[in-house]
Amino acid sequence: MRDRTLYTADWVLPISSAPIRDGAVMVQAGRIEFVGAASAVPVTPGAMRTVALGNAVLMPGLVNAHSHLELTLLRGFLEGLDFRDWLRTLTTVRRDLMTESVLLDASRAGIREALRNGITCLADTTDSGAPLTAMREYGVRGVGYLEVFGPDPVQCDGAIAQLTARVLEARAQDTPLVRVGVSPHAPYTVSRELFAATAALSRRESLPMAVHVAESPAEMLFVRDGAGPFADRLRARDIAVAPQAESPVALLEVTGVLAAQPLLIHVIQADDRDMARIADAGASIVHCPISNAKLGHGIAPLDRMLAHGIRTGLGTDSVASNDRMDLLGEARQATLFHSVRAGTPDALSAHAALALATRGGADALGLGSRIGTLDVGKDADLAAFPLDHDDAQPLFDPAVALVHALAGKVEATLVTVAGRELVVHGVLTQRDETLPLRVGAWRDRLQRWRQASTG
Ligand SMILES: [Zn+2]
Repeated sequence: MRDRTLYTADWVLPISSAPIRDGAVMVQAGRIEFVGAASAVPVTPGAMRTVALGNAVLMPGLVNAHSHLELTLLRGFLEGLDFRDWLRTLTTVRRDLMTESVLLDASRAGIREALRNGITCLADTTDSGAPLTAMREYGVRGVGYLEVFGPDPVQCDGAIAQLTARVLEARAQDTPLVRVGVSPHAPYTVSRELFAATAALSRRESLPMAVHVAESPAEMLFVRDGAGPFADRLRARDIAVAPQAESPVALLEVTGVLAAQPLLIHVIQADDRDMARIADAGASIVHCPISNAKLGHGIAPLDRMLAHGIRTGLGTDSVASNDRMDLLGEARQATLFHSVRAGTPDALSAHAALALATRGGADALGLGSRIGTLDVGKDADLAAFPLDHDDAQPLFDPAVALVHALAGKVEATLVTVAGRELVVHGVLTQRDETLPLRVGAWRDRLQRWRQASTG
């Protein structure tokens, strides 16, 4: 029998039950064996190591339900571009410069940032597959959704054959923590045929699926009216464009995508009928409030998602459209936007926001039986954050302090995934001393590329 570890903290937030003052979590063989008051820890045979976290909050590891780890090294590079130029520059730099080793380093840098921010699980959409390698290297939990593109129906068969080969090869390397999935990118980059074929692949092979959908007004115009900038771009490439459905979410319904119960990314341009479609299908949503705001796409109707009982988590999106991978910051932004929409204070409480960042994300990924709350029998994915920062005093409620006072100011002092300690005393246990140098060299290459491309 492997030894136990007992983590004690001034506050334990199980999420599934009320906060515990002077709490403890006992872990054995990667699983949670006890959650409760430190004074009530059961006496058990065998050795037990105690880790006293002190004035800190111990909670489930955060679930970042939407990231693009391979874009971590584009932080700040696409600043100020409108969405089409943002996408175009991203695609060009990706093609011209981002080799496998760059994509892998970007993914590593992203995971290190995730861990410092108490994130233990990532739902990552990826063109290259490098994030899957990096997730396995670091021991985090996650899904890597391999992206497929192809707005021209004639590309469908080739694209799906290539995706199928890639995903089946990647699946051979699945572990209990890291799984591969598929992601038909978005309505303006994927034909109806390719949506239908990818959904069929997802169902046939039981592959998790994620789709960017209902993100921008331009996407709505493209799907509903066959008009706008996305339509112009495709017509310029001699690809026929016609009105497809009354909304992007309706398009996913008629192409069979919703029936495969995907994770829907963004869902800003969606009305109550769309929410009913999503709820009826049993699909889930990841809400990315900061990326949505930064790109000027709007405030997603989180209130409607929750009213329809849709499984909903929080995501940062890439740091190219956010600059931070800080899920506590997303939780704070979610509460602020929710209050703005509702016109009342505290429409989404700090406790509810932390639940979205943990249990909500876990449920949205179909992992709710294993992670997302501190409950006996679940995997020990834990994060602890310090509460002794001066800027959080006086402190009455640890959830309010974490979401409203400390988000963006504190880093995790402890992170475990399935019981394995990945951050100890605020330091990552996996070292990579030369990564900052490699990132610096990459920055110089990017800078030269920009100078060359702007003449
Ligand atoms: Zn995204």
